[in-house]
Amino acid sequence: MSPLCRIEGVLHYEGVSLERIAATWGTPCYVYSRAALTEAYQAYERALAGHPHLICYAVKANSNLAVLNLLVRLGAGFDIVSGGELARVLAAGGNPDKVVFSGVGKTEVEMRAALEAGILCFNVESESELVHLNRVAGGAGRSARISLRINPDVDARTHPYIATGLKESKFGIPYDQAYALYQEAAGMAHLRVTGIDCHIGSQLLDTGPFAQALERILTLADRLADAGIRLQHIDMGGGLGVRYGEETPPALSDYTQVLLRQLAGRAEHLIIEPGRSLVANAGVLLTRVLYLKHGQSRDFAVVDAAMNDLMRPSLYDAWHDVQPVRARSGAARRYQIVGPVCESGDFLARDRDLALAEGDLLVIGSAGAYGMSMSSNYNTRPRAAEIMVDGADAHLVRDRENIAQLLAGEHLLP
Ligand SMILES: *Cc1c(COP(=O)(O)O)cnc(C)c1O
Repeated sequence: MSPLCRIEGVLHYEGVSLERIAATWGTPCYVYSRAALTEAYQAYERALAGHPHLICYAVKANSNLAVLNLLVRLGAGFDIVSGGELARVLAAGGNPDKVVFSGVGKTEVEMRAALEAGILCFNVESESELVHLNRVAGGAGRSARISLRINPDVDARTHPYIATGLKESKFGIPYDQAYALYQEAAGMAHLRVTGIDCHIGSQLLDTGPFAQALERILTLADRLADAGIRLQHIDMGGGLGVRYGEETPPALSDYTQVLLRQLAGRAEHLIIEPGRSLVANAGVLLTRVLYLKHGQSRDFAVVDAAMNDLMRPSLYDAWHDVQPVRARSGAARRYQIVGPVCESGDFLARDRDLALAEGDLLVIGSAGAYGMSMSSNYNTRPRAAEIMVDGADAHLVRDRENIAQLLAGEHLLP
């Protein structure tokens, strides 16, 4: 259920008026819902109850410490893609024994930090990485638990920038090389082979590719078992799509049934790495209309949030719902909702029929995933504040950045 509701004409998030949030902390700001996040996580737990499993939230979707800490309290593990994300998980109180480390370019420093923390598994993406990790683990006097990220060569039928499971992708180990590489890994002194993983893409709206990928993974796992390499877990990555507007993603239970059906009776634990589907619809971006510009052929609403705050529309041509916080009467016009950044690609939404006045607040929906975490300081814009609502309460969970913070760390020539 969406935490957005209109009370006496004013949009609220859970029990908190978005007008009150804007008055207290200013705009633009991200607003998250504790209840929505909790419900999304618990729905996964319920749906997977029939098989031993671990839900490793993909930190890159939204890495705010309060979000991570809430997931820690709910029992989540984490999928990280950098040493920075490991530091965040640890700072949020996460248990390293529930952390898997993905990514094609892990550095030696990151490997050492993860070994020292004692993470559950490195999801290794190439032969070179395997050799490197073995050496780093040996040097640190540790043993690294590893999984190979297999590229199952299935078409996830999603936006090309977020499809990762085709053979031309930079991600993972080609399916037909994986068996030999597992045998090589099994012979390395400082590695312990514990799993297999894949992640075929993001915002998948069909369960078919997951089923296909799992089938290929299980075939490989069986071949490995025949060769004496027994895996403890199968990690199917993330990627379940969400509804931004007109999409019809699979029901969570349909997705989990596809996985559980094929895993029935097998000993391997299931790991999944959902990001978007846990947080996208647990957050919104709140922004204020600065100027209305009625051009010759188009009407623009210039708002105080921009592509640096929410990159998805510019990067993927993504569609986000836009609603006025307080509906006003009067004739609607067809607006281009744009930010102040000096790029024609700086838009948040296009062709929206709205009745607006300068100073109005707008809510950009489904902004909890890949919103703040992809934000930047382009145009020397301080990044937005983040607020989490909890029933009738609202808490600032990240201060708005200030200009001094942006300039700190830069140096003039002597
Ligand atoms: C991004 C990513 C995820 C999460 O994907 P979502 O589409 O947000 O669920 C999971 N695993 C890996 C390896 C990723 O890169």
